[in-house]
Order: sequence, then structure tokens, then C-alpha cells
Amino acid sequence: MSSTAPPVLPRLRSLLDDLPAYRPGRPAALGDAGKLSANENPHPPLPSVLDAVAAAAASLNRYPDPACGAITQALAERHDVGIEQIAVGAGSVALCQQLVFATAGPGDEVLFAWRSFEAYPIVTRMGDATPRQVPLTAGGEHDLDAMGAAIGPATRLVFVCNPNNPTGRIVDAARLATFVGAVPADVLVVIDEAYIEFVRDADAASGCDLLAERPNVCVLRTFSKAFGLAGLRIGYAVAHPAIAAALRKTTTPFAVSAVAQLAAVGSLAAEDELMERVDAVVAGRERIFGALRAQGWSVMPSEANFVWVADDGRADRLVDGCREAGLSVRSFPGEGVRVTVGAPQANEQLIEAAAAAIEPVVRTSTGLPR
Ligand code: PMP
Repeated sequence: MSSTAPPVLPRLRSLLDDLPAYRPGRPAALGDAGKLSANENPHPPLPSVLDAVAAAAASLNRYPDPACGAITQALAERHDVGIEQIAVGAGSVALCQQLVFATAGPGDEVLFAWRSFEAYPIVTRMGDATPRQVPLTAGGEHDLDAMGAAIGPATRLVFVCNPNNPTGRIVDAARLATFVGAVPADVLVVIDEAYIEFVRDADAASGCDLLAERPNVCVLRTFSKAFGLAGLRIGYAVAHPAIAAALRKTTTPFAVSAVAQLAAVGSLAAEDELMERVDAVVAGRERIFGALRAQGWSVMPSEANFVWVADDGRADRLVDGCREAGLSVRSFPGEGVRVTVGAPQANEQLIEAAAAAIEPVVRTSTGLPR
């Protein structure tokens, strides 16, 4: 009789046992148009960018430029820094991971607000370092005083997500400067500005303003959101040359495809056109915020391409109502719901679904029968 014992499998590192996998946005019954769960840009690529992609596709038999020369040059000009201060990566999430590899290891701590971008704890633990999570304020903002107090001898890296994913709240320039000024010079502060192009609050910080004086500041940007290239995987860091060099050492070779590099160059050339689309997304954000607030949801003002509805006991209704309407949103049970701004039609469908979902609650809370 043949044995039914399970086969012996290769031994894996025990840290994988309880490491959560990164959760991608859920598909929606309405298809891509209804996918309001991944903070994607609802606009399709510009024709000029598609042309650049098609041209790059003709050379797919070749490896890409490992130095990302053309896009590095374009980014250096855009930020008025030397090319040695730019490091390009396969999405800014890859750069987050590389920054942990470059700065932290066993016994070291990586500090960040929570809740924030869900990759931070994952990349920290993959780097064998320890996540140190400082709760957001009740208003969904970074508690920079508490974060400063949590910095200790083991701290190697601090992430500041500005605006914060998923709450959409910003850190203002004065507070960020004070915070960074108090961080020990040998601790790296990463300002993750994945959504910076959607910010309209004039008081918001720009990490780039701190770079000249603070060699321990690294700014992360991405082409995935405002520039609409999420599918191509390209982001970058602006940092002191020593940090940028460390990022170039910790990448996998040829991580950024030629298609992505050329599309990014083309997107920078078409920046004005793309920023008009960003304005449209910002208008959609304000429309959703105003409508959901008027309906009675605990929605927060946002400076990103999404809004956060805090869970005041009714969030499940919102998630279920959206699902029934064919829309997918990102639920963080017990905390809140993150709704990405979509195209105008999807935004209206969302507002309708939210109105239908809150109605029974309003009637119950006013004592009327369901
Ligand atoms: N940082 C933040 C705060 C994000 O929300 C995201 C994407 N969700 C990223 C970084 C990563 O973006 P990408 O890897 O597509 O550049």
C-alpha cells in the first residue's frame, strides 16, 4: 500500500509563517471602472505615452538600461538636484523594501505611523527588522510628538507617509521640519509622497524642501498615481548621494523595464496635460467628500486620490452597499473604509450606493422603524 504521508517540503524561514501577504485591491463587478479599492488613476494612458510604450516594446529582446539614464536625468532636472541624488525603482514599494534592507536588520527598529501604507510592516519584517507602530491621532494624522518620543537607539528608519494612506491627512511643513530636526542625524527619515500631486493644502510639507539641509531625508515619489503608470512599476527616490547609491546597490538588476523608463520620460514631458487630469480627480474627491459628509458618514477631508470613512459602527453597510452596486472599496474592519476617487460616473454610483446604505441607519437612530 502506498503511503499517504504528506511530502516533505523545503524549509522556509519561520518569519514567513505569520507574514501577511500584500492585499491588492479587489476586483469589482462593474469591472475596472468600479474598482475604487487600489488608489489607481481612472484615466487611461495619454496617446503620447502609449506611443513611447509601443516604441520601447520593439526592443523587448534587449535588457533595459540598468542605470535608468534618461529618466534619471529628467528627474534630476525636475527636482534641480544632481543625478547622483536620484534612484529609480520598480515602484516606490520596491524602494521602501530596499530602504529597509539598506538601513535595518535583526534588532533594529523601523518606525511609522499606524494605520499607514500596509507594505511598511511587511517590508520591515522581510528585512528581519522590527516594526514600531505609533497610532495616528483620532483625526487620522501622524502623531509626530509620539513618533519623536518613540525614536530610540534601535531606530534606523522612519517612514512618514504624506499624505497618509489610508486617511488622506497631511503633515504640514512646519511640523515636518521640526520633527526631522529632532531626529538623530544617523536615522533615515523617508517621506513617502506617493500622493503629493493631489495635495491642494498650501501648508502641506514637501520633503524636497528639506533635502538640501538634511542628509538623512529621503523623498519617495511614484509614477503609479498622478501619472497613471501603476501597471508599469516605476517610482523613484530623491536623497543624499550616499542613500541613492545604497538604493542602487539593493535593487535587483534590470528591475525597471525599458517600457517603464520611456513611459516615465514621456509622462514628465506631458506633465501639464496629466496634471489637468489630477485636477479632475481632486474635483471628484471633493464631490465625494461633500456628498458623503452630507449623508452623515464619518468621512475625513483628504489631500489624496481617496477618502477615508472612519468606522463608526456603520462601515460594513457602506462596504456591502458598494459591493451590491458593483463597486469595490478597501475595507479595514473596525477602522474604516478607503474609497478611491474614480471616473465621474463611478463617483456618482458610489455616492448613490452610500446614500442607500446609510438610510436605514438614519431612520433607526431617529427612532423610526427600519
Ligand atoms: N507608498 C504609498 C503610500 C502607497 O500608497 C503606495 C501604493 N499603494 C506606494 C507607496 C507604492 O506605489 P508603487 O509601488 O506603485 O510606486
